[in-house]
Amino acid sequence: MFFKTIDFSKYSSIKVGQPTEVMMIEKGDIIPKDRYLIGGANNLLISPTPPPLMMLSKDFAFTEEEEGYLTIGAAMPTGRIVSYAKKHNIAGFEFCSKLPGTLGGMLAMNAGVKSYEIFNILHAIKIDGRWTQIEDIEHGYRFAKLDGIATEAKFKIVKGFDAQLLANLLNLRSNQPHDPSAGSAFKNPEGDYAGRLIEAVGLKGFKKGDMQWSDVHANFLVNLGNGCFEDAKSLIDLAKERVFKEFNITLLEEIKIL
Ligand SMILES: Cc1cc2nc3c(=O)[nH]c(=O)nc-3n(C[C@H](O)[C@H](O)[C@H](O)COP(=O)(O)OP(=O)(O)OC[C@H]3O[C@@H](n4cnc5c(N)ncnc54)[C@H](O)[C@@H]3O)c2cc1C
Repeated sequence: MFFKTIDFSKYSSIKVGQPTEVMMIEKGDIIPKDRYLIGGANNLLISPTPPPLMMLSKDFAFTEEEEGYLTIGAAMPTGRIVSYAKKHNIAGFEFCSKLPGTLGGMLAMNAGVKSYEIFNILHAIKIDGRWTQIEDIEHGYRFAKLDGIATEAKFKIVKGFDAQLLANLLNLRSNQPHDPSAGSAFKNPEGDYAGRLIEAVGLKGFKKGDMQWSDVHANFLVNLGNGCFEDAKSLIDLAKERVFKEFNITLLEEIKIL
């Protein structure tokens, strides 16, 4: 293992944070239990006092094909996974194209687009050194109970990369803001949309400092330049408070606040 200073104001997708020392885990290392693992920081909001952090090094960014299964390392960026699937004519990974991050982040969040979710195509995950079949992992909408660190995952190879589906999905995503964000701030409550609720309580486009509930899509907290953690947090709290008061619905964060 080694340490690396990562500036989260540049590294995180929402561009909030500060230079922070992160432990880089290499192949063969014992993974510490007292550190929080991050992936590509596309779903994170880093406070000025985050817990001790760690990250999988590029030793965990690999693909391997064997006996009809594709094994992918958890540090593999989603963009590279889609390129691999396209090049080798493998179906099922098209939806990863516009989900920024790493495989590990996708597994932990059961990331997805519409009805496409990573758990739909998964066979097994190696968690804390042990292979676990997906039937034994509790999971649901934007949620998976990994109870540990995923280092790699196995997928059954199905031939037939769908270029048309890829094009359709890319098109579908174009209603998202271009300003830096961490994706959806809240999970959609059952039968409703967090974006609709935020808009209904008058917060679409609402700003605090350089942070804003996007005027393109209200469930995206965007950074207009020099947005800071305190402003982001206060907008999150304000949305929760107003939506609860008006609709009696508790919004749950999708974004991880560290
Ligand atoms: C513009 C934009 C659009 C987005 N759109 C979508 C969308 O449509 N659908 C969607 O689902 N998400 C979306 N996201 C969120 C994001 O792409 C996903 O959550 C992604 O999977 C995060 O991956 P990451 O590597 O950046 O994880 P991080 O943000 O670094 O971490 C997220 C969580 O995963 C955990 N984690 C990371 N690696 C591992 C591992 N190896 N083992 C165990 N736990 C791990 C972390 O501890 C953390 O809890 C969007 C984000 C952005 C910025």
